[in-house]
Amino acid sequence: MGKTTGFLETARRENPYREADERLKDFEELHAALPVADRRGQASRCMDCGVPFCQSDYGCPLHNLIPEWNDLLWRGLDRAALERLLQTAPFPEFTGRVCPALCEKACNLANDGVTNRDNELYLIEQGFGQGWMVPQPPSERTGWRVAVAGSGPAGLAAAQRLNRLGHQVTVFERADRPGGLLMYGIPNMKLPKAVVDRRIRLLEAEGVAFTLNTEATAAAVAGFDAALLCGGARKPRALDVRGAEAGGVHFAVDYLTAATRSALSGEAPAISARDRDVIVVGGGDTGNDCVGTALRQGCRSVVQLEMLPAPPEGRTPRNPWPEWPRVLRTDYGQLEAIARQGHDPRVYETTVKSIAAGPDGRIVSLETVRLAASASGGFAPVPGSEVTRPCGLLLIAAGFVGCDERTLAAFGVAADARGRLCPADGSHHLTGRLFAAGDMRTGQSLVVRALADGRAAADEIDEWLRRSGA
Ligand SMILES: Cc1cc2nc3c(=O)[nH]c(=O)nc-3n(C[C@H](O)[C@H](O)[C@H](O)COP(=O)(O)OP(=O)(O)OC[C@H]3O[C@@H](n4cnc5c(N)ncnc54)[C@H](O)[C@@H]3O)c2cc1C
Repeated sequence: MGKTTGFLETARRENPYREADERLKDFEELHAALPVADRRGQASRCMDCGVPFCQSDYGCPLHNLIPEWNDLLWRGLDRAALERLLQTAPFPEFTGRVCPALCEKACNLANDGVTNRDNELYLIEQGFGQGWMVPQPPSERTGWRVAVAGSGPAGLAAAQRLNRLGHQVTVFERADRPGGLLMYGIPNMKLPKAVVDRRIRLLEAEGVAFTLNTEATAAAVAGFDAALLCGGARKPRALDVRGAEAGGVHFAVDYLTAATRSALSGEAPAISARDRDVIVVGGGDTGNDCVGTALRQGCRSVVQLEMLPAPPEGRTPRNPWPEWPRVLRTDYGQLEAIARQGHDPRVYETTVKSIAAGPDGRIVSLETVRLAASASGGFAPVPGSEVTRPCGLLLIAAGFVGCDERTLAAFGVAADARGRLCPADGSHHLTGRLFAAGDMRTGQSLVVRALADGRAAADEIDEWLRRSGA
């Protein structure tokens, strides 16, 4: 399995970023691909480690057979490697681009893990390029009809699996394009929308029906034998400060959606950072996507506020391998801001105190305040640390607090205290013919977890249909 000495001979090398100055001129992919010979060299680094934590719960929610397809890739057997990958990974073209690659951090090579994500991307793009990715409709139909509400990664993974198991699947999507956050959320430079469209066409060719611009409700799915709710955890955490109703204050996903619509249509974005001082509230990945998007739109400056202290540079004793390392990471948007502005956009232990608007009701500045750990265990403002910062666009990327009430009301179901549709027995079965999966069940998470959850829900529905005879 693998080249036992590969990791001693070849250093880890990721797909290189395009130069920041170059990629800031467009919304095209961030990375270029390594030459094929180097790719095989990277796969050869997957050693015969004996206990591959990469495919354990620590490393991969899909339990991808990583050492097996790395070995085949190294040997030049791309098609066999892809087939092995597709046994567990429904859409490697998504995870190969946006997955944080928990597997690489759980790798026995620790900080120097095998480049599984780039290897996965190479294999699936070979698959599409070589014409190996052909529709796989089921050989026979069961006669059962399943409705899927929501076409994010959870809904798409469930639809693919249910369809291949022979059920007739209709995906309802309230937006004008399928994909959920893959389409409207994750920016084009991280996941080109043509890649999402390509997969939708394949699913359609396999027999999955998509009904767009349509709200799924109990009435809309009444004629189906089962319904799976995959509506996401899309309710944003609001900014509860004086002046938050000013013009130019937006939630991150609304801003990123407008940017994607503009990139797709070529028209000016409905919300633009051009020539504005932009402040992003939230130091996480969504905030980073806002930073990268604002820079591409030609903002004057960008600052990213984070309430928490900066994470440590390296693992602490309480965060050992093979856990995901909770360490300081500088993502593409922050790297681009450093290249453009000469300094990191992140300001830690700081939050917004109030927002000031001009006579036209639009934000002109905001006051920030430093935070310090308080005796009660939380964070408290530090008196006298207030700073007034110019701001023409304030983007709130402060996380999500659960699924939206519209879908709950439409199906007459109630969320738990954390805003999730999460049955107490750990299953996906809510009640009667109704199931839930993805962020809607787990809370805002990762694409790879949504895919795994969608597939698990599909298997549960299949078993339930066969058991109950619906
Ligand atoms: C800006 C941003 C960037 C992210 N980047 C990454 C990343 O790089 N890597 C990563 O792994 N994860 C990332 N995530 C997280 C990841 O996108 C989510 O965990 C994942 O998309 C959840 O999938 P889902 O299918 O459960 O829900 P969603 O992707 O949220 O899709 C839900 C869909 O359901 C539709 N819907 C809701 N209710 C109804 C209804 N009643 N009828 C019809 N349709 C309905 C919505 O319109 C939406 O299209 C990011 C999240 C955000 C917000």
